[in-house]
Amino acid sequence: MANFIEEIIEKDLADGTVDEIVTRFPPEPNGYLHIGHAKAICLNTGLAKKYGGKCNLRFDDTNPVKEDEEFVNSIIDDVKWLGWEGDVYYASDYFAVMYDCAVKLIRAGKAYVDDISPEEMKERRGTLTEPGQESAHRNRPIEESLRLFEDMRAGRVGDGELVLRAKIDMASPNINMRDPIIYRVVHATHHRQGDKWCVYPMYDFAHPIEDAVEGVTHSVCTLEFEDHRPLYDWVLDNCWTGRKPHQYEFARLNIARTIMSKRYLKKLVDEGVVDGWDDPRMPTLAGFRRRGYTPSAIREFCDRIGVAKANSEVETGQLESCMRDELNETAPRIMAVLEPLELVITNRPDGWSEEVTLDNHPQRPEAGVRTYAMGKRMYIERSDFSLDPPPKYYRLKPDGAVRLKGGYIVRYVGCDVAADGSVGRVYAEIVEGTMSGGDSPVKAKGVIHWVNADDCAAVTAVRYDYLLLPADGKTDFSERLNPSSKTVYNAFAEPAVRGGKVFQFMRQGYFTEDCRHAGVFNETVGLKDTFNAKK
Ligand code: ATP
Ligand code: MG
Repeated sequence: MANFIEEIIEKDLADGTVDEIVTRFPPEPNGYLHIGHAKAICLNTGLAKKYGGKCNLRFDDTNPVKEDEEFVNSIIDDVKWLGWEGDVYYASDYFAVMYDCAVKLIRAGKAYVDDISPEEMKERRGTLTEPGQESAHRNRPIEESLRLFEDMRAGRVGDGELVLRAKIDMASPNINMRDPIIYRVVHATHHRQGDKWCVYPMYDFAHPIEDAVEGVTHSVCTLEFEDHRPLYDWVLDNCWTGRKPHQYEFARLNIARTIMSKRYLKKLVDEGVVDGWDDPRMPTLAGFRRRGYTPSAIREFCDRIGVAKANSEVETGQLESCMRDELNETAPRIMAVLEPLELVITNRPDGWSEEVTLDNHPQRPEAGVRTYAMGKRMYIERSDFSLDPPPKYYRLKPDGAVRLKGGYIVRYVGCDVAADGSVGRVYAEIVEGTMSGGDSPVKAKGVIHWVNADDCAAVTAVRYDYLLLPADGKTDFSERLNPSSKTVYNAFAEPAVRGGKVFQFMRQGYFTEDCRHAGVFNETVGLKDTFNAKK
């Protein structure tokens, strides 16, 4: 089924309003992209693809103070990673065009130079029920505004001393139309333009011109800009003679307990709350990538949540299930013990070992099998043994038996308990004739994973939780930081872990090797179910 923007495009193509579709994704390079941006990227690239058009990546780099080359590069990487192909554009390349448009507006009596400060601007703007107050400079002679604007451009005016305002309507019911500022003075070095400019256009003035220059047909943005659309159209009506783009708004993506603002994410990075923009806990695309998310899973997520006209919030679970569904198909299974407890087999001699055969993927026989040897000393998960088990505990316990995945059933013999009550080592015996795959004389209700202590790989496994605790009435993110958003395990895995990057650690979750640190495996997403629960 077509979404509402597709319906508009199909109508425009059918009645000849447009003959080719051009969309754009216009980030400001003031931070790394987050998962919310993925929705805008998928939407805009998806439209271009579906209708045989193109999607421009355009940097909305009109604010020299907050923007940076590092962000430009990371954004290009991330957008390509998500599957975008096309040309890269920079709004700053159109500064001369925008400047000319501004001069044209002044000449037409549709813009004037004012000395209003941001505070006064707010005070005099009026409210939804009261009109704004006109500036004393609103009707200053055109020649005077031209001269002052030239002074602004030439660097003869300090930051904030003068602004250029569109002359629209101080009584407009839409506050955005009450003589908005369209140019301001900023003495700062621009990441691409250097010190060439000291006047910079405001978003609402720049954006429609950027779209028009590039021949964008459908300029898709988030709902907050709905009230800005009349200004978007006003700028084009008064500045642009060629074919005009049109703005359409869709609902932004919000995910529960997930920060979707570059500005705040930057704060987390700058204050060292996280280890950089690509910290696996960050909802940035770089963070998701490092955690092991794939572009296809993110695209699938954007597809499943759809495009709507009303804001809503989705659960992280929806994103996770896209990732899990994919990894369930693709990830080979191996065993890894995150919290090792030593298990000693009492009825086998020192140096004993016996090979077992394990499926690489239970539902995909074509993924093949591997062999691995059980040994006299193995590690099992600490939580798979209990001296004082709760009801229905089908793992190892006193008087109990459990199957070691793919191998024998073992029966409890005893354990070493330290002075503090913790279990140091467990002893068990193999129940003869119970090797997996054969006709076992006895059955075990539970199956647990294990590694051979003499033949395993030490790896670091890292599990992540939400960065934020539930809101509970708190409005400031910094009061909601989750102290246990990251848990590090010194784990042991089958040696097969050295032969790949992405695995299902059986009964634990899907893990992907960290792109910065070999031997560190980040939990990409947990398992919905353990194989015990499925049995
Ligand atoms: P931020 O506050 O994180 O900087 P922004 O909207 O200011 O977000 P831009 O770089 O201007 O960031 O965004 C580029 C594009 O991505 C815009 O078209 C914007 O509408 C879209 N976008 C940003 N956040 C979301 C979101 N949560 N859901 C969908 N689209 C989004
Ligand atoms: Mg922004």
